[in-house]
Order: sequence, then C-alpha cells, then structure tokens
Amino acid sequence: MRAVVAGAGMTGLALAHQLAQGGLQVTVLDAQSAGGLSLSQRFHDFVWDRFYHVILPSDRELLQLLEELGLGGELVWRRTQQGCWIGDRLCPLNTALDLLRLPTLPLSAKLRIGWMALRAPRAFEDDRLDSQTSAEWLRAWCGEPGYRDFWRHLLRAKLGSAAEWVSARFIFATIRRLASARKAGGSGDTFGYVRGGYRTILGRMLERLAALGVRVVEGSKVESVRLVRDGVEVDTPAGTFPADTVFLTMHNPMVAELLPMLPDAERLRLQDTAYLGVACTVAVGRRPLSANYILNVVDDRSCLTGVIETTNVVDASAETNGHALVYLPRYAPTGDPIHRQDDAAIAEAALRDLRRIRPAAGGDWLLHQSVQRARFIQPIPRVGAAPVRPPREVVPGKVYVVNNAQLSACILNNSDCVGLARRAAERFLARQLGGPHTRREVLAR
Ligand SMILES: Cc1cc2nc3c(=O)[nH]c(=O)nc-3n(C[C@H](O)[C@H](O)[C@H](O)COP(=O)(O)OP(=O)(O)OC[C@H]3O[C@@H](n4cnc5c(N)ncnc54)[C@H](O)[C@@H]3O)c2cc1C
Repeated sequence: MRAVVAGAGMTGLALAHQLAQGGLQVTVLDAQSAGGLSLSQRFHDFVWDRFYHVILPSDRELLQLLEELGLGGELVWRRTQQGCWIGDRLCPLNTALDLLRLPTLPLSAKLRIGWMALRAPRAFEDDRLDSQTSAEWLRAWCGEPGYRDFWRHLLRAKLGSAAEWVSARFIFATIRRLASARKAGGSGDTFGYVRGGYRTILGRMLERLAALGVRVVEGSKVESVRLVRDGVEVDTPAGTFPADTVFLTMHNPMVAELLPMLPDAERLRLQDTAYLGVACTVAVGRRPLSANYILNVVDDRSCLTGVIETTNVVDASAETNGHALVYLPRYAPTGDPIHRQDDAAIAEAALRDLRRIRPAAGGDWLLHQSVQRARFIQPIPRVGAAPVRPPREVVPGKVYVVNNAQLSACILNNSDCVGLARRAAERFLARQLGGPHTRREVLAR
C-alpha cells in the first residue's frame, strides 16, 4: 500500500516512520528541507537549531522516539535557572522566595501568583476555557495587580497583539505543560538536548527512514490533492505522486487550500484559523550574558518576549565553539505587520532592548546576528470559539489530516507532535490493514 506524507516537519517524519514500520511504502514530500521548524542553521562558525529547542523530562513520546533511534545516550540534561527583568532590575525567578522578593509587585499579588502556579495546573479542563480570554482567566486567579504588573507583560510578549483575544485555553495549556515538566524533572527546571542539537535527531531519523525504504523528496511543494478511482494523486512542480492514501501534516490554511473536497463551511473554518508566527533574532556573542536560560521581560518598553540564552543549557565548548548563543523571539499573529518588517529593523530593536537589559551585550560582544522567521508555528484559540481542529479523516481510506492543530494543548512541542503521529498511524493501520497496530505489535512484526 502506497502512502504520501505531505510535510516533513517532526509530525510528518514521525508519521512516515510509523507507517513504514507498519509495512506501507511511504513517500514524504516537503516544500522546503526536511525538518520544518526543527531545522538547523549556520550561525557564525557553528551550526545549531534555527529556533531554540529544549527537551523536557515530561516529553515522554519524544524521549521514547530518541531511544528507538538509538540516541538515548546522546541526551544531556542540565538544571537551569530562570530570571525576570522587572522594575529595571534582573531578579532570579526559580523559587517561591524569589517570587516574594520581586520588586514593584504588591505582596498580595505575589501570593496570588504563587497560589495560581500551584493550583491552576490541577484545575479541571473544560469548555469554559473557550469562553473567557487568557487575560480574564489570569485576572481571576491573580487579581488585577498580579495581572496588570506581571502577567500582562508576559502574555503580550508571548502573543503580540493576539494577547487581547486569545482564549484561556492557551494560558492554561502553557502553565500545565511547565508544571508537568517541573514535576517530572524534580525541583527547579531541568532541560535537555541531544548532542549536536536537532541536526543529530533529524539526521538519524532520515537514516532510519531510508533504511525502511521511505523516499523523502525535498523542495516539492504539494499544490493539489486529487481523488482518482483507485486512490489519490498528489501534484507538485516536480511531478505527480500517485498513492492509495495521503496524509497532510501542514497548517490548517494550507490544508484548506489543498482539499477542494472539504465541505465549504469546513474549508472556511480551516482557512480562518488564527496562527502565531515569530521573528526571532539570533545573536552570537563572545561571552555569557547571565546564568539564566530564560529571562522573562516584564517591561512595557521592551519588544522582547524574553532572552533565551541557549548556552546555559547547551555546552558551549562542545557545541558553539565557546560562544554565547542567544535567541530574542518576537511573537505575533500571522497577519501582523511585524512579519513584513525587514530583518535589519527587527534585529536592531531586539539588540537595543537586549543591551538595555544586559549591558554586557554592548561593545565588542556581538559576533553574529540574523533573523529567523516562521509565520505558522501554532494555532491560537480565539475567545468565544472552540479551537479549530481539522477532521482527522477527510475521505476514508484516502485523505487524512495529521497536524498540530489537532493537539488538545495549544502549545508548541515536538513530543506532542510525535505522539499525535504515532496515534494517527496506529488508528490507520488498525482500520486499513486490520493487522497489528499498537507500537509494540508493529515493532514486534
Ligand atoms: C521559536 C520556537 C521555539 C520552539 N521551542 C520548542 C521547544 O523548546 N521544544 C519543542 O519540543 N518544540 C519547540 N518548538 C516547536 C517545534 O519546532 C514544533 O512543534 C514542530 O517543529 C512542529 O512540527 P510540525 O511537523 O507539526 O510542523 P512544521 O515543523 O511547521 O513542519 C511542517 C512542514 O510542512 C511543510 N509544508 C508546508 N506546506 C507544504 C506544502 N504545500 N507541500 C509540502 N510541504 C509543505 C513545511 O515546509 C514544513 O517543513 C519551537 C518552535 C519555535 C518556532
């Protein structure tokens, strides 16, 4: 049985892996290079992930995949620190005591923020999360000062203009993921990476796919999917790929464009899905700037979400030739004007804010700057509506969608993508082939 997987991000590659293990003859097509948002890039004199990635101890699906790929021994774990730039000061933000010591916030707000961090992740997840904004939900937990003087900044930084209309489901999912990571890693934040970064993971994944007979065709944008009598035909500028079944793994608006057979209302719903994008300045510097992996920025004058100093997780002497690698993300919904601003303007604003917060980034510090962009990184749920999840099965046996808009937690992470792909493959194999379908059964074949 022949399958085409359209999109070679982690979702598409993990799906192809599972389908090929289940005995299908798989071709993967990607408009660009295999890897999607997890691709690597040359920065100054080394190569690392184009967007900052860490692995959390709670990333069960990803960790299991790494074991299967024989990369378990390449994992490196680091206990990390977080900081907060607030009231023009750099403060640690790792313990309850750190929270109590933050300047500018009234004690009652700190106590309510602490209470929320403990209790909110255990709150019941129900449809009421769709009917209030993240801001309303945070206000209810932390009170007006806790929202206004703390959370408002973080929400704006994480979502840009979408902060005003994103539903509470977003912030709930974010807080729950961080809490479960903390629980799995013991006290404090423990983050991990694979030696060599995602380049190692993707390289091993592609080797494994090749060994399973999977063909990966890069630079082949899927332009249409046509139903034919005995299957589907997938059109790309490089030619037409006939198959029994196609799986689309890219974002909803592209899925809507590719599937004319969807009912009109469904196609419009997918087209209108709001997505978050990012314009991320990457700076390589001569020296470390702080001990923090994440520095949250609580400051109306700053355009930054935070300062992500990756070399406080990743061993700089082994991976970045001893240089500090710092990501300065700026998030905004897909249609925001920021995505049309040129790289020089984005980098200049980000580096100006960085130097104000960390003067050590001035002088001769900077060795390299670049801007990495993506306009469709994750769907963002709008208040007043349930998250837009595409149908999993569009034409039974022939056309399927497996994309990250189907995840219940609306947050970016590769572990959930791998889990999504595994479950979709198992369902498909069980239904179509009627044979073994759980991971253990497929592997045992
Ligand atoms: C700033 C940032 C930080 C992140 N941090 C982390 C982290 O710390 N930990 C973590 O686990 N995850 C993190 N992620 C998320 C992680 O990168 C994503 O979850 C993951 O890459 C999504 O994979 P995907 O396959 O669903 O989508 P994508 O990676 O977007 O892949 C989709 C693929 O489809 C292709 N495509 C689109 N249209 C077509 C078409 N018409 N024809 C053919 N191909 C097409 C694209 O070229 C792309 O390769 C981060 C992401 C970003 C942007």
